[in-house]
Amino acid sequence: MLSDYACHEGAIGLDWYALDPNLRLLLDRLLPDAADRAFAEEHVARFGELCGGPIARRAEISDKHGPTLLRYDRWGLEIDTIEHHPTWTENKADLVRAGFTGLSHHAGRPVPAVVTAALSYLVSQAETAIYCGLGMTSGAADIVERYAPDAIRDDMVGRLTSLDPDEAWEGGMFLTERQGGSDVGANTTLAVPDGDEWRLHGEKHFCSNVDAEVFIVLARPEGASDGASGLATFIVPRLLADGSPNGFRILRLKPKLGTVAVPTAEVELDGARAWIARGASTAGTHDQPRSGINTMMEMVNGSRFGVALMGLGIHRRSFLEGAIYAAQREQWGQRIDRYPLVRETLVDLIVELEAGTALTFECAAASRTAETEEEGRALRRILVPLAKIRATREAISAASQSLELLGGNGYMEDWPMARQLRDAQCHTIWEGTENILCIDVRRAINNEGAHVALLARVERALASAGTGTGIGAVLAPIVDAVAATLGEAREAIDHLADVSHELELLHARRFSYLLADLVEGALLLDEASWQLARDGDARKAVVARQFARKHLAPPRVRGILDDDRTALDLFDPLVRYGPVEPKTAA
Ligand SMILES: Cc1cc2nc3c(=O)[nH]c(=O)nc-3n(C[C@H](O)[C@H](O)[C@H](O)COP(=O)(O)OP(=O)(O)OC[C@H]3O[C@@H](n4cnc5c(N)ncnc54)[C@H](O)[C@@H]3O)c2cc1C
Repeated sequence: MLSDYACHEGAIGLDWYALDPNLRLLLDRLLPDAADRAFAEEHVARFGELCGGPIARRAEISDKHGPTLLRYDRWGLEIDTIEHHPTWTENKADLVRAGFTGLSHHAGRPVPAVVTAALSYLVSQAETAIYCGLGMTSGAADIVERYAPDAIRDDMVGRLTSLDPDEAWEGGMFLTERQGGSDVGANTTLAVPDGDEWRLHGEKHFCSNVDAEVFIVLARPEGASDGASGLATFIVPRLLADGSPNGFRILRLKPKLGTVAVPTAEVELDGARAWIARGASTAGTHDQPRSGINTMMEMVNGSRFGVALMGLGIHRRSFLEGAIYAAQREQWGQRIDRYPLVRETLVDLIVELEAGTALTFECAAASRTAETEEEGRALRRILVPLAKIRATREAISAASQSLELLGGNGYMEDWPMARQLRDAQCHTIWEGTENILCIDVRRAINNEGAHVALLARVERALASAGTGTGIGAVLAPIVDAVAATLGEAREAIDHLADVSHELELLHARRFSYLLADLVEGALLLDEASWQLARDGDARKAVVARQFARKHLAPPRVRGILDDDRTALDLFDPLVRYGPVEPKTAA
């Protein structure tokens, strides 16, 4: 069991990996290959210290000294330069050196997606703004590597994945225009052919990490059809080779509620030189040309997964700050974490967090946990929007509840929670609002039949809980709750296949929440079975049971009649990660 949270002043300065047994459990479970697990240990442990220490400390300062736009130099020449506080650039330099953007190119071995997710989870606990910038850099590198023409590809990829902060470039993505974010088909930015290249003309309304060097941009080739299908994806450098602006003008910086340190701007493209992102060449020959909005959607889907990790990071940080404060603060002569309602808040925070980590990390592990490659692809296709919906919404709730645990101090900007709450509110919007993501879940089912893989995954969790572990009494109520919810999900899927389109859309949020509850319950069950079998420890079974009581099979009269004492009697093992005897959990 961990030491008492009362030993700490706050989360900053601690080793966030050492303090997170649930993250270790995820890595143990999802990386069964010993070499993968050892690789994960080396890098995730490094990031635990880095993120909990200097990155988190500086992030507080960056947030209070947001970027500014220097429009002109002292000669009156327009330079459109973004000025940052040194803490922002120091943090980026440290993360680039540590391999946050370049690990996959420099590790000398394949980097499991679970490891990348763990690093992103840790960075997000310090600051989601910096993950926004560096996450888009990795996304841009991926698009450039696969779809850029030979003439620019290797140099750009080398820069975007460099471990040298003086050489490294960053990336961004421009989709949204004033008239439409959700409806990108309304985009009017025009792409005019110019030999083998293109020139872009138009305005982009939300451009984060605007002083990056390379942007992936949606625009409509001259003469292409209206709507989303007429759009194409372009690679656009901010500067030309001689250092002059590439037809790129920053109109203004946005005055944001949160994620203050990453500059988000309105941008005018006036003849910006661009390359269309089509099939990259292998051995010198071009593959089937691939352009259009699908290329951009590959980056968007990667970013949606990243935004789910941002939500999880804020949730974890909120839990940690709340647990530490509640162990320190005394009222009526005793620590506030001795009071039942505070205990229940902290237990709820950790149960929802572990449900969220189970779902989000499953996106990274889907190719391994599925039975075939195709099933893995379909599983990831539907899990990513579900994870983003769930993790970003829960992050707002977690930040709000934890802020309240800090009482009046929580509302103050010199304590850590105000920023977390401001930042959390961004993530339900970024990369598609919750409504749009709920509609995307329907699309994944209607167009790709992705629910088949999802339901199969839930069935596998049920099957493995039913056999092998010999601890049926502990898992039985969870198995029953997951099985009943699986039945409800099947009914909902059948019903929605027959209703009008309008009703299907009306139910889309309810339906996505149902699926998220189902998958989280099933994955917690999986984790509980695994922990019981490996360690004889029923802690995760208690987490799964608490989750099921709240989301899958709520007790009568809101649980008042059955006097469940879990939050009181098992507070320490739940909140401080101690073992639970199976007979206690039964
Ligand atoms: C801090 C920040 C940074 C950003 N950075 C970038 C960036 O770097 N690059 C980029 O391209 N974009 C960026 N965005 C833009 C972001 O992706 C969009 O704001 C988002 O996609 C929503 O688009 P919108 O603002 O036009 O809202 P709208 O599309 O106008 O939506 C308004 C409301 O209507 C709802 N709605 C719209 N259509 C439907 C529908 N069919 N059914 C149900 N509800 C619907 C939405 O859910 C939302 O609640 C950023 C946004 C923020 C807040």
